[in-house]
Amino acid sequence: MPLHPKVARINHDAMHPRLNIVTAPTPLVAAPRVSRALGIELFIKRDDLAGPSIGGNKSRQLEYYFGAAKAEDADTILITGAVQSNFARLAAAVARAEGMHPIVQLENRVPDTSKTYQSSGNVLLSRLLGAEILTYPEGEDEAGADAALHARAGDLRKAGRKPYVIPLSEGHPPLGALGYVDAAHEVLNQLGEFDVLVVASGSGATHAGLIAGLRGAGSRARVIGSCVRREAGLQSARIGRVVDRLRRLHRGAERVHQADIETWDGALAPGYGRLGEPAASAIRMLASYEGLLLDPVYTAKSFAAIPALVASGEIRKNSRVCFVHTGGLAAMFAYEDTLSALA
Ligand SMILES: *Cc1c(COP(=O)(O)O)cnc(C)c1O
Repeated sequence: MPLHPKVARINHDAMHPRLNIVTAPTPLVAAPRVSRALGIELFIKRDDLAGPSIGGNKSRQLEYYFGAAKAEDADTILITGAVQSNFARLAAAVARAEGMHPIVQLENRVPDTSKTYQSSGNVLLSRLLGAEILTYPEGEDEAGADAALHARAGDLRKAGRKPYVIPLSEGHPPLGALGYVDAAHEVLNQLGEFDVLVVASGSGATHAGLIAGLRGAGSRARVIGSCVRREAGLQSARIGRVVDRLRRLHRGAERVHQADIETWDGALAPGYGRLGEPAASAIRMLASYEGLLLDPVYTAKSFAAIPALVASGEIRKNSRVCFVHTGGLAAMFAYEDTLSALA
């Protein structure tokens, strides 16, 4: 089948169709005041600027999902996520830009949320983008959430439509991780070799792709995944499984060893989508030192790893550290109640 004109094939070993969504490279900026305060050399990879509709890391992952969707001539995109899912909002924006119909399914994953959480931020943007919104009552049932999407896709197929489901659960080829193999090469081109990369680790596509990309390119930089969803032991095991599946898509993943998978969960409490003190002080630190914003769900928790691991000596003084800012800023206003307490 001929590829859509905007779909390019890029040079991973098996050739995977990719839709160009991100204006790459995204900026890599120095953070001189945090660097001085912590005694390290810190750079920030601005993937919060990647892609449409307030951007974020899912834009790179969507390049490969939409590449596959366009290669099968899909007309409808289905995706599931938390109520404040950045992935769902970005998928809706990209679907619209490609003339496709977006269906987003929002799962009740965070307990005791406010009315603002339920209606502002990413929910508001997905609605403005004209996404059809479904709900799923369970927040910890990835397979069930995907099954609900597939049931809907089956109905659409019967009606003559061509749906494409972006999966959340494990057991699928991790196409999204290929976007972070690309990002790893971008960082190495911008920064040269460095010591430590710190990134949020949720589904693990970003974390696994970065490790595979760096090791595949011969870099020895450590990659620390800061847990946003589950504790460090469970998350390391999950990343191991994503890397295993990534081996079938990208050869660099074969160079990843168990010791390359490092996770830190010191800012995870009190749980997914809820702000604890280390994350709150990360928001204050980056805002007041560098004028940059961190979101409460992902990047505040991932950034919190840096001062904590410098203090414990696990990140050595004078290290060159790259923090990947994965975005999430569209959720800020949905967390107004929590965040006003910091202001
Ligand atoms: C989804 C998300 C992450 C985590 O990325 P994974 O690939 O799911 O691990 C980090 N930051 C933001 C802002 C996200 O939306």
